[in-house]
Amino acid sequence: MLSIVVPCYNEQESIPLFYQAVEKLRPEMGQELEYVFVNDGSNDETLSELRALAGKDSSVHYLSFSRAFGKEAALYAGLQSATGDLVTVMDVDLQDPPELLPKMIHMIQTQDIDCVGTRRADRAGEPRLRSFFARQFYRLINRISSTQMVDGARDFRLMTRQMVNAILQLSEYNRFSKGLFSWVGFNTKYISYPNRERVAGQTSWNFWKLFNYSLDGIVNFSDAPLNIASFVGAASCFGAAIAMIFIVVRALLFHNSAAGWPSLVCIILFLGGLQLLCLGIIGKYIGKIFLETKKRPVYIVKETDKTVKD
Ligand code: UDP
Ligand code: MG
Repeated sequence: MLSIVVPCYNEQESIPLFYQAVEKLRPEMGQELEYVFVNDGSNDETLSELRALAGKDSSVHYLSFSRAFGKEAALYAGLQSATGDLVTVMDVDLQDPPELLPKMIHMIQTQDIDCVGTRRADRAGEPRLRSFFARQFYRLINRISSTQMVDGARDFRLMTRQMVNAILQLSEYNRFSKGLFSWVGFNTKYISYPNRERVAGQTSWNFWKLFNYSLDGIVNFSDAPLNIASFVGAASCFGAAIAMIFIVVRALLFHNSAAGWPSLVCIILFLGGLQLLCLGIIGKYIGKIFLETKKRPVYIVKETDKTVKD
């Protein structure tokens, strides 16, 4: 069985269109279907749409949040209640083309992979500035984090039950799915498709929301920012030490360092640097505590010849 997890936030117009588009493909997919819609506290008629659909079709299920908890929370809730052996995560606005599903199912069944991801081949139709920052974000995160993230990869992906279970083991509160999908490992293959515009409604991500989201990604998957303090502190101490030597040598050789200000500046620089360095060291420990509190599994086993309980 295939579970389709769909987060919805103010999507009253898109839901019927999405449902029809997927239903059309049902014969091609050769799978029993289960829809898990998650209403992320919408304030339009999303919930009544979902109720109506669930009343008509017994393979449609929905969860409705008490308020908006965000797409990440909706994804987590959806994955938790999905029961299929294959699970896919899709946006309801048809920016994730359902036509790709039969091909993805075929790939996962015939090849030795656990996940088929999708990526946009281009960013056509997206504001220039947004594309620019998105690209910079991927460059940055892939440099400073050991968890690699594919530029242009969408959340739209088809996963095996095993991989979904692994993701559910990561129960951290601040979720950044792109990172989590990558963190759990497993073999992922990507297929690309040209960018699509949403069918109806409006995007609920403005620039500010995306910016904060990207900061979440950086903080959750990298401790590079914590190292900045140590680095600046060490550099400042080093600079101060050199300047001190310079002042001493100058005083000894030329006897002209009358006013006390150069030595004062050196002392200030040195102490300031020392403080930053210590902050950086404390930051390192906080980083470790941060990781521990997420209670991520220490490892994820994919295969063994021992019998393990799932
Ligand atoms: N979404 C959600 N909660 C939010 C924002 C978005 O559940 O706070 C859902 C939305 O209904 C859609 C998907 O996440 O199904 C992607 O959102 P959107 O299309 O607005 O994002 P974009 O495609 O512009 O990145
Ligand atoms: Mg969209």
